[in-house]
Amino acid sequence: MLIVQKYGGTSVGNPERIRNVAKRVCRAKDEGHDVVVVVSAMSGETDKLINLANQVSENPDPREMDMLVSTGERVTIALLAMAIQSLGYKAQSFTGRQAGIISDNVHTKARIEKITGDRLRHAIKEGKIAVVAGFQGITETSDDVTTLGRGGSDLSAVAVAAALKADLCDIYTDVDGVYTTDPNMVPQARKLDKISYDEMLELASLGAKVLQTRSVEFAKKYNVPVRVLSSFNDNPGTLVTKEDSDMEKVVVSGVAYDKNQVKVTVQGVPDKPGVAAKIFNTISDNNVVVDMIIQNIGEGGLTDMSFTVPRTDAKKIQEVMKKVVAEIGAKNVTVKEDIAKISIVGVGMRSHSGVAAKMFTAMAKEGINIMMISTSEIKISCVIDAKYTELAVRVLHETFEMDKAA
Ligand code: ASP
Ligand code: MG
Repeated sequence: MLIVQKYGGTSVGNPERIRNVAKRVCRAKDEGHDVVVVVSAMSGETDKLINLANQVSENPDPREMDMLVSTGERVTIALLAMAIQSLGYKAQSFTGRQAGIISDNVHTKARIEKITGDRLRHAIKEGKIAVVAGFQGITETSDDVTTLGRGGSDLSAVAVAAALKADLCDIYTDVDGVYTTDPNMVPQARKLDKISYDEMLELASLGAKVLQTRSVEFAKKYNVPVRVLSSFNDNPGTLVTKEDSDMEKVVVSGVAYDKNQVKVTVQGVPDKPGVAAKIFNTISDNNVVVDMIIQNIGEGGLTDMSFTVPRTDAKKIQEVMKKVVAEIGAKNVTVKEDIAKISIVGVGMRSHSGVAAKMFTAMAKEGINIMMISTSEIKISCVIDAKYTELAVRVLHETFEMDKAA
């Protein structure tokens, strides 16, 4: 088999851990596999570099930022290649450019366009373990270093796996798989053997930090089987893969919570065409991403509207909305900070009815008020008061019996 292994920052956080990773890599080689390794920067290094930039400039140039932060991964590829070599195996490190990872030119959040991977194929053919820098690419036109956004080495690994048609992409991190919910909150949380791409996508975008969202999109698009594992033990991990009929039997696979949003309510909005467009165009022009939106039934030509935005944009949205409210002639705007979004996710929802009713009933029994609701084919989300987060997550985990394997 050809296996791509990716090790995150904590897994390569110090020299001892790098030697430990080297042993794991060589073990896979001993088992007869071809191995390509993708690594992140040592934990904390990327933050340190960004911090340095902010100390010399108020507004660092994105091109120079990429030149700077891409060095973090360059350190780890060289160290890991050395560690592997010292165990008596052949290894060679590759920067994004050397691996042929071509991206667009949107610095600090570039998208991978293609991976040529010629030198990687050549190294594999020579029996070498190829060690590739995650998180970075190169623009085709200007030959500049780019980076793929925070957490981007997950994407590098999946993309390399797709390009090389690898049989498996193993993502080693500090948790040993994908759980039904946060085990720190619910001790009964259960590790899933497998999960579909769509479910993983929902969970990732809901803030389950195991995999970067874009890497899951990419894995789905190119059908790359991804395994989430811990580099600190030999537990089996979770396979992220194509949906199968087993998965349909489980109604809810996981419950997630997100405390990183705030709720904005605009009251007395004129109920006429073009008003919502005006509000959300202005928000989008200010680069704020809106998640849930609800609009009430209008009364007397006026209506109320609520939506959620990232907590980091709370101040900005207040300023933006003040202007918009004046322009459209709405009454006022309020921002509520202490909210949480609780979501249940499962492909089984497509074929089971009454899931929403069951969710709402469980919360009602605990006296939890629901402020907003949104649904997709495989997800139901509710906004509630932040102080009930833990209670809601526990109750839903129990109600949908997520502690029990299907
Ligand atoms: N080193 C980068 C970061 O900290 C990329 C990664 O770790 O995936 O975001
Ligand atoms: Mg990561």
